[in-house]
Amino acid sequence: MFLRKQTRPIKVGNLTIGGSDEVVIQSMCTTKTANVEATVAEILRLEEAGCQMVRVTVNNMEAAEAIKEIKKQIHIPLVADIHFDYRLALAAIENGIDKVRINPGNIGRREKVEAVVKACKEKGIPIRIGVNAGSLENHLLEKYGYPTTEAMVESAKFHIGILEELDFHDIIVSLKASDVPMAIAAYRMAAESFDYPLHLGITEAGTLFSGTVKSAAGIGALLSMGIGSTVRISLSADPVEEVKVARELLKSFGLISNAATLISCPTCGRLDIDLFSIANEVEEYISKIKVPIKVSVLGCAVNGPGEAREADIGIAGARGEGMLFRYGEMIRKVPEDELLNELKKEIDIIVEAYERT
Ligand code: SF4
Repeated sequence: MFLRKQTRPIKVGNLTIGGSDEVVIQSMCTTKTANVEATVAEILRLEEAGCQMVRVTVNNMEAAEAIKEIKKQIHIPLVADIHFDYRLALAAIENGIDKVRINPGNIGRREKVEAVVKACKEKGIPIRIGVNAGSLENHLLEKYGYPTTEAMVESAKFHIGILEELDFHDIIVSLKASDVPMAIAAYRMAAESFDYPLHLGITEAGTLFSGTVKSAAGIGALLSMGIGSTVRISLSADPVEEVKVARELLKSFGLISNAATLISCPTCGRLDIDLFSIANEVEEYISKIKVPIKVSVLGCAVNGPGEAREADIGIAGARGEGMLFRYGEMIRKVPEDELLNELKKEIDIIVEAYERT
């Protein structure tokens, strides 16, 4: 099996996908791409949340033309999502796109595929082959009867074969399904079949709540096996939420080095402070921190101090007050109504110290 470290490294703008243990976070704009102002505003919000690459729909020539202006105003690689129309792919490439998501088997006549491959080669732009269980080619549905793991991997190989025949190897592959076990099996089989890096996703996963659970189950299983060089969490929600979930998921596997982690207790009858609101506020506060500190928020003085000592900075509640811990040492007691502000100040000090080193 090709694990992420052993996959072929593929350059996308200033990023490299594959060939290392790094997992890149992606999302997709919900705006009309031709609306440059709205698209740029959304991408800048995604960047701030930690998105490293972003995809936009290129479904008409206005969208393809807008790429030029969007590229000038953003700081992360931009990917064009194109279905069928090779002229849109050529226009997107001409306008400076960093990666094209298109399935070569769906482009049509060979000379159209050749034109796209030639343009990609000239500009060093990779192609992502996006297999989706819900839109498999007819010849595969006829062969297998319905979408299966084997059909998905065969579809990927079909598209890969077309590109390899043209001596094109800057390929990234995704095999998305909304059925979690099917997606896991397809990605596993793909990782055993070729060394192109895999972009992970559970498609049409659902809302913020259900989609997060479903994506964490499927993508988490794959990440734990060492599969996947880039991820997108697909949610029926603000795409910023996709990035937040992706960062949290990568943190769970130690696959992100620029994010702060919150440790908070589930509370019990020993709770002496308003822990839920403090934990939520701290989570929001640290979500934009780009250094790997650990912050703990614990409810009481029974288990609290021991756990808080494991973190870089933490609090343990007591009746009407809390204890602040830094690097395992209790630094002071603070009244409950000042606890949050004092913790934020201490977090800032630790982040500054970290950034100086
Ligand atoms: Fe209960 Fe204290 Fe443990 Fe929180 S830290 S779960 S309040 S015992």
